[in-house]
Amino acid sequence: MEKWVYTFGSGKAEGSARDVTRLGGKGANLAEMAAIGLPVPPGLTVVSDACVYFLKNNALPEGLRDEILAGIATIEAETGKRFGDAANPLLLSVRSGARSSMPGMMDTVLNLGLNDQTVQGLGHSAEDARFAFDSYRRFIQMYGDVVLGLDHAIFEDILDDAKARFGHENDTDLSASEWQEVIRLYKALIEEELGEPFPQDPMVQLAGAVGAVFSSWMSARAVTYRQLHNIPGHWGTAVNIQAMVFGNLGSGSATGVAFTRNPSTGEKTLYGEFLVNAQGEDVVAGIRTPQALTEKARIEQGHDRPSLEKLMPEAFAELTAICDRLEAHYCDMQDVEFTIERGALWMLQTRAGKRSTRAALKIAVDMVDEGLIAEEEAVSRIEPASLDQLLHPTIDPRVARQVIGSGLPASPGAATGEIVFTSEEAMAAEQEGRKVILVRMETSPEDIHGMNAAEGILTTRGGMTSHAAVVARGMGIPCVTGAGNMRVDQRNGLLLGLGVKLKKGDLITIDGSSGQALKGAVPMVQPELSGDFARLMDWADKARRMTVRTNADTPADARAARAFGAEGIGLCRTEHMFFEGERIHVMREMILAEDEAGRRAALDRLLPMQRSDFTELFTIMHGQPVTIRLLDPPLHEFLPKTEEEIADVAAAMGLLPRQLSQRVEALHEFNPMLGHRGCRLAISYPEIAEMQARAIFEAAVAAARETGAPVEPEIMVPLVGLRSELDYVKACIEKVASAVMREAGLTITYLVGTMIELPRAALRAHVIAEAAEFFSFGTNDLTQTTFGISRDDAAAFIPTYQRKGIIERDPFISLDFDGVGELIRIAAERGRQTRPEMKLGICGEHGGDPASIHFCEDVGLDYVSCSPFRVPIARLSAAQASILQRRETGKS
Ligand code: ADP
Ligand code: MG
Ligand code: MG
Repeated sequence: MEKWVYTFGSGKAEGSARDVTRLGGKGANLAEMAAIGLPVPPGLTVVSDACVYFLKNNALPEGLRDEILAGIATIEAETGKRFGDAANPLLLSVRSGARSSMPGMMDTVLNLGLNDQTVQGLGHSAEDARFAFDSYRRFIQMYGDVVLGLDHAIFEDILDDAKARFGHENDTDLSASEWQEVIRLYKALIEEELGEPFPQDPMVQLAGAVGAVFSSWMSARAVTYRQLHNIPGHWGTAVNIQAMVFGNLGSGSATGVAFTRNPSTGEKTLYGEFLVNAQGEDVVAGIRTPQALTEKARIEQGHDRPSLEKLMPEAFAELTAICDRLEAHYCDMQDVEFTIERGALWMLQTRAGKRSTRAALKIAVDMVDEGLIAEEEAVSRIEPASLDQLLHPTIDPRVARQVIGSGLPASPGAATGEIVFTSEEAMAAEQEGRKVILVRMETSPEDIHGMNAAEGILTTRGGMTSHAAVVARGMGIPCVTGAGNMRVDQRNGLLLGLGVKLKKGDLITIDGSSGQALKGAVPMVQPELSGDFARLMDWADKARRMTVRTNADTPADARAARAFGAEGIGLCRTEHMFFEGERIHVMREMILAEDEAGRRAALDRLLPMQRSDFTELFTIMHGQPVTIRLLDPPLHEFLPKTEEEIADVAAAMGLLPRQLSQRVEALHEFNPMLGHRGCRLAISYPEIAEMQARAIFEAAVAAARETGAPVEPEIMVPLVGLRSELDYVKACIEKVASAVMREAGLTITYLVGTMIELPRAALRAHVIAEAAEFFSFGTNDLTQTTFGISRDDAAAFIPTYQRKGIIERDPFISLDFDGVGELIRIAAERGRQTRPEMKLGICGEHGGDPASIHFCEDVGLDYVSCSPFRVPIARLSAAQASILQRRETGKS
């Protein structure tokens, strides 16, 4: 037979912290605290399965009522009070508590069991009577609100009227008889509203409260919260029924909340607040100003009312000791709720405390130093994505903010710059070394270069997954999207914000962590990558198996990535080197050349540019591996578009604009992403690959001479589907390699490999591996080609797919393990059949996504490569993946 009820009391409990699934977080931890001998008011927990049963059958399970009664009998035995007894009544609290903490669930009902008779039994002195009637009116008010569904404001209105009539300012000033009058009015109100009197029978009260907890699982608030946080609806919630202890028994009583360490800084000191002569809800309600727990905090916060440390030193000492005990027991920072009844301390809740990223790091590192947890445990406790908060400059918290608009915190960090409204302006400003914020209604793929040139991006439309948001996060650029209270007036070149009209060139600051736009330049705090961060990342590096490289196209990227701990470049996209300044002109001439001679002429001018880029990259990377991908341009991105551009290029090439237009027309592709790109280009025009290979090898020679640390270039051929494609391009590369080595009189070790980004390549990996010395999974294109979904057009329907439950996650953000992942597995396995030692890596966006990194660990890849700002996230994720793998396979 199923057991529905688990009791807990002094020194013993039927459940424990391990029973979170059945007892919910609150119930499991109440049981645990009771079992280790902490002062917990006795009580019982109704398991969450009872809720599931109730919701399915619209009735309480058979046997539950008897088990609850038996549980109450044990509470009665321990407290010496009786539920419903007029002389010495036991009062109960009824508290919801699901498996994971869930705001939106039913609020707690306190003082249950009070009625017109039992209220008399609470005490006979004047002080006791006041307390008794105060408790009764609280109960009616809470029960009326939470269980009977009446608006709590109407109770407050009655109370406010009464206070005015009696001439009191505070609730605590009311006398027993005045509270009785309030109670009379409350009961009359309930009877009038519901046509039934307030329930007097304690058992009826209890059944009502339990039913209300169960029903609240399906409340709109709770359902929405679950959707947002991926909590399954079938869990249900447990109910805790517990003897009341009273913090409202005069000046020797109090109630409060505490963190065992400071949740925003991580400092090891009790942190929290309390109220004298109060019950639980008073602390949260915010009607009275709470007092600080410690003297230190009181002084820091400038409060004049005494701390708990000063006011009730004994209870404070006991609380401190219990918090230490809890930390040692749970090996984690705890968030506790407590009540002091006439000097006696009672613990009402404990759970792992929520904390800022900074605090999480400090606490994890301190706990290792204190011997509470092992290094690997510390590494496992930090949420990798949360590191993002630490890696960017932030606005100095001490300065006042003049907010001129607000939107969504789309990409973290803060940035200041001059306002520009177009990508062209952003790129021009970057050339001149000016810092700008790109302000647009929304961005599109054409804005990429402007976005890259800007310090930050502000859009007045769009959400967290709009183009601007996704791209900015990838680039590590602060971004605020959907700032609906701002307007871009394109025609007049104005940005209209709250109370301000700004024009192009005006200074603005955006805070991508809060979603605010601020006027002018604002002082910043630079990221702190030493201290706790550095120590924890050190432990992570020791724990991980995979290496972490970066996707870097420019020296600036490479430097940033090295500072973040990258161990090589996993992807250098050479076409990105040709967008800037003069180069795009030469590039256009090369693409548009009519014949090989024309192309070679342009390539000759590109060679020194490429060589110097590579030399700089190799020098920065100082002997670490660098993977360079041969040109893979979506050609259309390079073609001149406006009449002006066409005229310019035509002049440079000695052609008529009309002739050039024809050439552009001829190069037009219906489906550029599936068109003449990747290795196809190198096969049509081998001179391009030859130029690039020459630039790479000459740069390797130069950098090796300069740094003394010879680089090992890894040359990557893109978009290979056939082994013969790779053979052809590889032959070109090898020819150039031997020529350069001969000229330089130096040997350079290098690898030629391919990107796996076509399903055919994955399936034929064993054959391709005969020629390829490494594979790198280009999961952006591989996702695109596997699904047959264009990356650039996906935004039109992926959100609809997600909303309608067709797919759960955007496969371009989080790897599709079942489909794309299967191809990766196949390719890895088949590739290694042919070449067991071959290096395997991933270089798509997914290389910086924690869930995808776990997958890469599982498949046994050698490295992940991601954008510079995601390198620390990847290092930590890779470490966690290794730790998990070891735990699961039982190896240490
Ligand atoms: P929440 O999940 O919203 O924190 P709780 O069930 O913890 O709700 O209850 C809120 C507050 O009610 C507690 O912090 C405590 O102050 C008070 N409370 C709950 N149970 C009791 C009890 N048995 N005795 C006294 N106060 C209680
Ligand atoms: Mg609650
Ligand atoms: Mg609580």
